[in-house]
Amino acid sequence: MLNGKTAVVTGSTSGIGLGIARALAADGADILLNGFGDTSEIDRLRRQLSSEYGIKVAYCGADMTKPADIERMIQTANRELGKIDIAVNNAGIQHVSPVQDFPVDRWDAVIAINLTAPFLITRAVLGQMLERDWGRIINIASVHGQVASVDKSAYVASKHGVMGLTRAVALETATTGVTCNAICPGWVLTPLVQKQIDALAMRDGLSNEDASVKLLGDKQPSQTFTSPEQLGALAVYLCSDAACNMRGVGLPLDGGWLAQ
Ligand code: NAD
Repeated sequence: MLNGKTAVVTGSTSGIGLGIARALAADGADILLNGFGDTSEIDRLRRQLSSEYGIKVAYCGADMTKPADIERMIQTANRELGKIDIAVNNAGIQHVSPVQDFPVDRWDAVIAINLTAPFLITRAVLGQMLERDWGRIINIASVHGQVASVDKSAYVASKHGVMGLTRAVALETATTGVTCNAICPGWVLTPLVQKQIDALAMRDGLSNEDASVKLLGDKQPSQTFTSPEQLGALAVYLCSDAACNMRGVGLPLDGGWLAQ
């Protein structure tokens, strides 16, 4: 279905981004991977995706806190894949601290990666999408784009900002073939959440399993994690023709978190 389309997925060397990149690749899209990690591992991943799905896979290790790096990533995608049809703004970080102790440099980093990078990427790719009258901008927000939790002020602010950006871009493109939407996951078991499980286990003297159960129990009524594969399938749906008139929404995949 996505044969002939190209996608840039930020933060796709791990977790949700990798799940989305894999799902788009399986559907036929050429992919630019981005994110940090061991270079030989990333090279292996590139080759594996390319041979499994018969697609082009490029990589750029651009740091999403750096506007010049973001520009370089867009240039790399245009050069190596020819164009950008789909932009998935997924790279994101978390920092947990009460607001009165929140380190200013952590606030700046969370806002830069989670909010400013999606703005810069949207700004950079929208022109060519509008020229071809087809494009998909998918922002990976969070349930924290809709509601708050304690000790996550920067993350909650950044994800509420991403929802605002999504709606504004959706309105600006409403009469075109370009759509902009967000996905709002609840807990997904990735390195980002494992760090929070580790901190909870340490704080309350719990095993990894008991800390996972406690983490889910507080917020996610299904008591199960959403998977990167499920989020990948949702991203593929947003790229389909069936979703061409879905504009400016935040789709939860959250085990009932937002139903409470
Ligand atoms: P993760 O830590 O597993 O992966 C993050 C990815 O971003 C990695 O590839 C990493 O290398 C990359 N990255 C980090 N800093 C970067 C930077 N400065 N520049 C470029 N790449 C960078 O995280 P995840 O859990 O897969 O989260 C992905 C997105 O999903 C984030 O935006 C996060 O806020 C969101 N999200 C996650 C959950 C969850 O439960 N895991 C829930 C809701 C939303």
